[in-house]
Amino acid sequence: MASKFQAPRGTFDILPEAARSRGRLEGAAAAIFARAGYEPIATPVFEDTALFERGVGQSTDIVRKEMFTFEDKGERSLTLRPEGTASVCRAYLEHGMHKQAQPVKLSYLGPFFRHERPQAGRYRQFHQLGIECIGTDSPLADAEVIMQLSDLLAELGVPGVELRLGSLGSLEARRAYLEELKAHLHAHEAELSKDVRERIDINPLRAFDADDEGTQGVMASAPTIVGRLEGEDAEHFEAVKSLLDAAGIAYVVDPTLVRGLDYYTRTIFSFVCDALGAQSEIGGGGRYDGLIEQLGGAPTPAVGFAAGIERILLALDEEEPAAGRDAFVAIADPSQRERAMALAVELRHAGLSAEVDLAGRGLKGQLKHADRLGARRVLILEADGGAQLRDMETGEQRPANPGKLLDEMKERDS
Ligand code: AMP
Repeated sequence: MASKFQAPRGTFDILPEAARSRGRLEGAAAAIFARAGYEPIATPVFEDTALFERGVGQSTDIVRKEMFTFEDKGERSLTLRPEGTASVCRAYLEHGMHKQAQPVKLSYLGPFFRHERPQAGRYRQFHQLGIECIGTDSPLADAEVIMQLSDLLAELGVPGVELRLGSLGSLEARRAYLEELKAHLHAHEAELSKDVRERIDINPLRAFDADDEGTQGVMASAPTIVGRLEGEDAEHFEAVKSLLDAAGIAYVVDPTLVRGLDYYTRTIFSFVCDALGAQSEIGGGGRYDGLIEQLGGAPTPAVGFAAGIERILLALDEEEPAAGRDAFVAIADPSQRERAMALAVELRHAGLSAEVDLAGRGLKGQLKHADRLGARRVLILEADGGAQLRDMETGEQRPANPGKLLDEMKERDS
């Protein structure tokens, strides 16, 4: 009978068949990041609310309406982490990583929480993997970070991926541009959606993301920053582009690209996949040269990305086949239970996967179960101390030497 309890809205269980493809993805990511020198870091699932208010930005949708915030018994306000970068930067400062050789290159993976309206590809608990390269403003770092996600998607075989690239300029350039954008929006207030209109002075960039026609019309003639990058900002953007060109990574420059977090400066990027429908972004990121200072550190340039694990898996739409078992140790008589268990343990210690029947089945039931598990061979232990070895692929069965069962199994396995 089904329980009356269900996983909370917007959350999901990861069942074993889904966990297999997830495992492959996580393994591929860990290997790719490690080869490029990104070391794993894990931070707590909740943090002081103020970290995200400061780090993600008061004007963002995330902070304004999507955080799972609660008070602990000491009346401290805590929040389930909605993203990873603020926490990694907090850890960087807290553990004095700014005193190490720069840049510090970190990778992470885990659950994140946003109170969003659930739909395919959008959940309230989801998983991200990401990397951060902290302590350098070199365009090489931007390109390296982009290459990691590009490599991962290519290695996994995610189809129909497009990389969109933009730049927001330095903090000062961005500030000047935002004033111009606000003026443009104020001049067309009547045509804007209520949501955009109310946030002109708080977060004008989000207007580029609006899906109503009125706002889109206004944005078609809005000034963009990419076209007017100057000096070092322009040089930085050119350098990132030529590094990507040299690496053979295709991209399109998207002057209307914006991201949902306040901290970005200069390079921003987004990997989208046409197989995903409305929630088409697989992952994205950019440079955040002002964030560490914002959190109380010295000015420290940095760049990173985060990608949604569920989105990658949705885009792949593949099932990883079950691993099967090397052996199943069956018993022809209940007197053989202990011997079967001991043999299975021995096989496991020798590095083979082996199971015994835990449900009291008869021999026929055990063979059926072994077949269901995908066991390649079944050892049948007989009451007189003898044994049979059955090859499940060919159905062939022959007596096995009871004193040398482990050797026989190992031999046949090689
Ligand atoms: P962001 O941290 O907003 O830059 O998002 C980075 C990536 O995380 C996105 O491209 C998505 O793949 C994934 N993501 C963000 N929010 C959600 C969500 N609510 N559910 C599933 N994936 C998400």
